[in-house]
Amino acid sequence: MTDCIFCKIVNKEIPAAIIYEDDIFIGFLDINPRSKGHTLIIPKEHFERYDEVPEQIQEGLGKVLHSISKQLIEKLNATGFNILSNNGESAGQVVKHVHFHILPRYGEKGHSLEAAFPIDEQAKEELQQTYNLLAPLQPVNHMKVAPEGIAHKEENKEKQENIKNEKEIKSFEEETYLMDQRDILPDS
Ligand code: AMP
Ligand code: ZN
Repeated sequence: MTDCIFCKIVNKEIPAAIIYEDDIFIGFLDINPRSKGHTLIIPKEHFERYDEVPEQIQEGLGKVLHSISKQLIEKLNATGFNILSNNGESAGQVVKHVHFHILPRYGEKGHSLEAAFPIDEQAKEELQQTYNLLAPLQPVNHMKVAPEGIAHKEENKEKQENIKNEKEIKSFEEETYLMDQRDILPDS
């Protein structure tokens, strides 16, 4: 995109402190750092929001975020880090090229989630309705998903604790696998 500042950084039309680059992503230091080492990770291709990013790029993104976070922490002796992505104006997105902030943190105790996002009391009151509206979400392709979500996992955990020998473990694994297979089938 011609008028996108991050596309210009990708195309080296404007300077940036690029600390990471591969075929698909670049990482550079934020010009207004919120902490030492504040880094932005972006796909080279222009997408406005994370929910528009195609699957292939999403998969690589997880690996890149993980690796760069680790390297930043080690090289800067940080004690923690935040990963943040603002998507859409309502979420405070300023630059309309999808990006992930990695914010290394230092010392004992920093800003909590509460400091950035105070508790929404109405959302808290409506927790049950929100749960009813959402659960269960569609399974992700190629992922094993427990049929009844948390309840099912608890049941499995109990079963797992009661398993005594190798034969039982094997049949438990087979049973779980079959249930998972059944559950990822599309709704008929
Ligand atoms: P957001 O509010 O999530 O859209 O964040 C945009 C971020 O991009 C801000 O933290 C800016 O400081 C940063 N930013 C904007 N222009 C540049 C630039 N030319 N180089 C590095 N960082 C930038
Ligand atoms: Zn762009």
